Amino acid sequence: MKKHNFSAGPCVLPQEVFLKASEAIMDFNGSGLSLIEVSHRGKDFVEVMEKARSLALELLGLEGKGYKALFLQGGASLEFLMVAYNLLETQAGYLNTGAWSDKAIKEARLFGEVIEVGSSKDENFNYIPKGYNIPKGLDYLHLTSNNTIFGTQLKKFPKHDTVLVCDMSSDIFSRQLDFSQFDLIYAGAQKNMGPAGTTLVVIKEDILGKVSRKIPSMLDYKVHINKDSMFNTPSVFAVYTSMLTMEWLKEIGGIPAIEEINEKKARLLYSEIDLNPVFDGFANKDDRSNMNATFNLTDEKLKDTFDAMWKEAGINGLNGHRSVGGYRASMYNALSLESVGVLVDVMSEMERKG
Ligand SMILES: *Cc1c(COP(=O)(O)O)cnc(C)c1O
Repeated sequence: MKKHNFSAGPCVLPQEVFLKASEAIMDFNGSGLSLIEVSHRGKDFVEVMEKARSLALELLGLEGKGYKALFLQGGASLEFLMVAYNLLETQAGYLNTGAWSDKAIKEARLFGEVIEVGSSKDENFNYIPKGYNIPKGLDYLHLTSNNTIFGTQLKKFPKHDTVLVCDMSSDIFSRQLDFSQFDLIYAGAQKNMGPAGTTLVVIKEDILGKVSRKIPSMLDYKVHINKDSMFNTPSVFAVYTSMLTMEWLKEIGGIPAIEEINEKKARLLYSEIDLNPVFDGFANKDDRSNMNATFNLTDEKLKDTFDAMWKEAGINGLNGHRSVGGYRASMYNALSLESVGVLVDVMSEMERKG
């Protein structure tokens, strides 16, 4: 039986994407060859790469606005380093909203001065800092739009006059934003776009070429742009499957359509968390993520019962991250409203029992 997959990443993808991806593994475009044995320089795969790159810009509404989309390797974790390598000359600002921004800060410190413009570390990152000051003269400001582990999400983006970089690994393509306010967006595929193995980087070309250091080719955004994201062998399967997911998203109506569904799912689950005395939400209400909902049992003694019940209902991946404990329900784009309904039913059943 197909499980209801609430895993934080790698994530659930649409069934039809799994089906098409597995067909391409057996026979890619009727070529008599598998997707994973053809040359990435061949016409068929070059088309896939181009399609994936243009779909990313189209979905984000960034076509014809000076942006390039790249599919790189090394995960979002390598972007922590590449961003600083390519953009940090003297000082950069970072908003520290969780474990991932913390890691991004650590890498950036290898290249220049990092100013933490705000941090919610004091409360184990259960909120988004507000009213912080953005100093003048930054090379860039780095934000994390959604904090996968703690279940918080930036609802408002600061007014600023600097280059804006955003790690959108866990909420890319999930909600409508003016994406042109960002100069560089990156996202590991495996949270909301595809399988692990590729990272989408969307970058405004004119922010590059301003640092004085030498940049190794594989870490140089310009090299990847000049080679159309094919400087070296790309992760063909991950790019192909991400392309299929973006096609699926476009077909169902793009970001506006999925945002509506994501809001319904989040409302359903959070209202259960708030109304049911057996559960307690972790994140500050105003900052709650529509992608990852974190919550705890009010009575830890109920853990074994609850765990057995959700597993029995065919739910997978509900355990919280070790740094938060409790539970985390990740409701990425491809998770259906029905799956959230199944979880909510189990939670209300708990209330009747408890
Ligand atoms: C998972 C995650 C990362 C790390 O991604 P990798 O692709 O595993 O390197 C970075 N940032 C955020 C917000 C994430 O959720």
